[in-house]
Amino acid sequence: MIIQVKDLKKNYGNLQVLKGITTQVEEREVVCVIGPSGSGKSTFLRCLNQLEEMTSGQIIMNGHDLSDPKVDINKVREDVGMVFQRFNLFPHKTVLENVMLAPIKVRKTAQEEARKHGLALLKKVGLEDKADVYPDRLSGGQMQRVAIARALAMNPKVMLFDEPTSALDPELVGEVLAVMKNLATEGMTMIVVTHEMGFAREVGDRVIFMDQGVIMEEGKPEEVFEN
Ligand code: ADP
Ligand code: ADP
Repeated sequence: MIIQVKDLKKNYGNLQVLKGITTQVEEREVVCVIGPSGSGKSTFLRCLNQLEEMTSGQIIMNGHDLSDPKVDINKVREDVGMVFQRFNLFPHKTVLENVMLAPIKVRKTAQEEARKHGLALLKKVGLEDKADVYPDRLSGGQMQRVAIARALAMNPKVMLFDEPTSALDPELVGEVLAVMKNLATEGMTMIVVTHEMGFAREVGDRVIFMDQGVIMEEGKPEEVFEN
């Protein structure tokens, strides 16, 4: 089991956004999180990679208890790749530089090695030929594929996706979902917050349906979508 969540609660002031989430994710599993806007899906992901501090409960990530003060959160976070709705690429760096940045800065990876790995990742997302261009020359779908390559550059054990296709023009959604589907096929452990029910049905091993800060339903896609 790579992620274990027990009675996770998150409040913003008096607002209870997560009201006790308990679930777990197995290695190589693809979990799709669905539910209405404002139900806490994004907050759940942000708690998992510690962009938000939980109010109470327990998260065990890859064997590390995140509430244990002895655990180095930054170290744990390196194993968790995250892709957001907005791509957040660095505009003054080329596509390849965007992908190389974290390994060089955080892991002190040698330039040449980071470059080789970066190019291999761009190939994986179908953008090898865009290595030297700047993000403003890319379509939204291409930017999101670069964002995925950038997250993969740290060799994460888990990838979290927060509505990765919601900001895209409809004709660009497919190319991003295709890259995600390939990752899933390769055995990447993934949690995907999405409104793409086709993707959840086809690629998801499990679907979590959230509403108002609780898990209302959880199961295989065919079970959850039957209701
Ligand atoms: P979803 O991803 O399902 O749309 P969110 O996790 O983004 O839901 O938000 C759940 C609720 O928490 C919403 O009511 C939202 O306004 C609120 N919320 C999210 N982030 C914050 C924040 N930083 N401060 C206060 N309230 C927040
Ligand atoms: P999304 O639905 O894609 O999560 P939102 O527009 O709900 O986007 O939130 C965008 C950002 O604003 C998030 O970082 C979220 O934490 C923050 N946010 C959302 N609701 C509130 C709120 N009521 N008060 C403060 N921050 C909020």
